[in-house]
Amino acid sequence: MDRSIFHPEFKPRPYWWEAIPMGENPVAELPAKADVVIVGGGHTALNCAIELGRDGVRPVVLEAEDFGFGASTRNGGAVSVGVNLGKGMSGAKAGGADPTVQAMIGDAAESFTHIESVIAREGIDCHYERSGRFVGAFARKHYDSFAKRVAMLNELADADAKLVPRERVREEIATDYYHGGMTIERSGKLHPALYHRGLMAAAERHGATLVGKTRAGRLSRNGSAWTVETSRGTIAANEVVIATNGYTGGLTPDLKRRVIPLASHIIATEPLDPGRAKSLIPKGRTISDTPRVLTYYRMSPDGTRVLFGGRARFTPVEPEVSAAALHGMMVARWPQLKGVRVTHGWMGNTAFSFDFLPHMGVTQKGLHYAMGCNGSGVAMLSYLGAQVARKILGGGNSINAFDGRDFPTMPLYTGYPWFLPIIGGWYRFRDWLDRRVA
Ligand SMILES: Cc1cc2nc3c(=O)[nH]c(=O)nc-3n(C[C@H](O)[C@H](O)[C@H](O)COP(=O)(O)OP(=O)(O)OC[C@H]3O[C@@H](n4cnc5c(N)ncnc54)[C@H](O)[C@@H]3O)c2cc1C
Repeated sequence: MDRSIFHPEFKPRPYWWEAIPMGENPVAELPAKADVVIVGGGHTALNCAIELGRDGVRPVVLEAEDFGFGASTRNGGAVSVGVNLGKGMSGAKAGGADPTVQAMIGDAAESFTHIESVIAREGIDCHYERSGRFVGAFARKHYDSFAKRVAMLNELADADAKLVPRERVREEIATDYYHGGMTIERSGKLHPALYHRGLMAAAERHGATLVGKTRAGRLSRNGSAWTVETSRGTIAANEVVIATNGYTGGLTPDLKRRVIPLASHIIATEPLDPGRAKSLIPKGRTISDTPRVLTYYRMSPDGTRVLFGGRARFTPVEPEVSAAALHGMMVARWPQLKGVRVTHGWMGNTAFSFDFLPHMGVTQKGLHYAMGCNGSGVAMLSYLGAQVARKILGGGNSINAFDGRDFPTMPLYTGYPWFLPIIGGWYRFRDWLDRRVA
């Protein structure tokens, strides 16, 4: 490994945590009962808690670690309008001709409206900007497929999307790496850890009790009442919501076998001089691209650092290992950043579903859930968390296109993704081939 890419003060933890005191929150007492217990302390859980609290219901949120431990304070902070929805689908479905897919894209547009209005209504200072997104085509055939996607996003999500031919890519990003791209104006970016802190404060203002360092360990039901046994005692509840996404574990084996915990990794570079930093993404957009081993990147809120993420590995590895791989991917796109050093490297778990769609619903045992972000959950899972709350408040009626759909699994899959290294290798080979053909 080339050690020269590491800054002497390299930290194997999220850059975002520089802005929040992780692990310093006092741990609240565990109440004996609650209207609703929500398991998990990220964007999904907190949006659910806020929506319940606004209607006078008092939820208790249980987080096994410190609040913010999960993906919600580790992500890239890109706020999207469903650009990745239906990626695993084929034919008419992927093209948006299917009415269910149309309804889903409509919900993705709603999720964008939801997150913008929560940030505004709750006064969350998280550097939110409606900055737009650029998606780079890794291969010529990917660019050819964008025309349909642009039309669909404009028609169903009012996304203000446009094709960017290869000769105009440099208006968006200082690289010749892509075979063209598309821009989506109705997209944004935020500081995920500050968004998370703002959600915590809002949830508490609306009457939620946030209980950190308390793992839900066993769930049992007697009639309509739940008992949740935790690492710090027992709590009774009328309803239980599971909001554990890529950290879904043995508490809910039936949900665990429906999501694949896929690691995603990010690095932050040292600050660049302002002229150079500004030249990289002149319009300040978030960037993503289309290989199977995709990358996503952006500048830090102060505009000085590159935050570069991707599936450097599909499984957890030491941050130094993934940082070196990501640095290589960054330099492939921006050769001008060759000598730039990395100050932070970290990872988190996303949750992929077998149909590449997010899901919410109620399990056979009667547990509410929302999960399956497929790598893009900042807006979508914020929305679905709030939708779970609306469903509880409304007496259980189905309320959106993701609600109550079949949540598939695979025979013999119990939640341990032994196949990921094999898929990772296969994806890398297919990407290499696509690029050769292009
Ligand atoms: C590196 C990375 C980059 C990403 N980039 C983007 C992006 O740019 N844009 C985007 O839209 N999405 C992105 N995502 C996805 C996004 O972060 C997630 O969709 C979202 O944060 C999920 O929120 P959540 O609340 O459902 O889960 P999480 O924030 O992961 O929280 C789940 C929590 O559940 C807790 N938990 C688990 N079991 C228990 C238990 N038994 N008892 C109590 N607590 C428990 C865990 O400790 C964990 O903190 C990214 C994800 C990662 C990892």
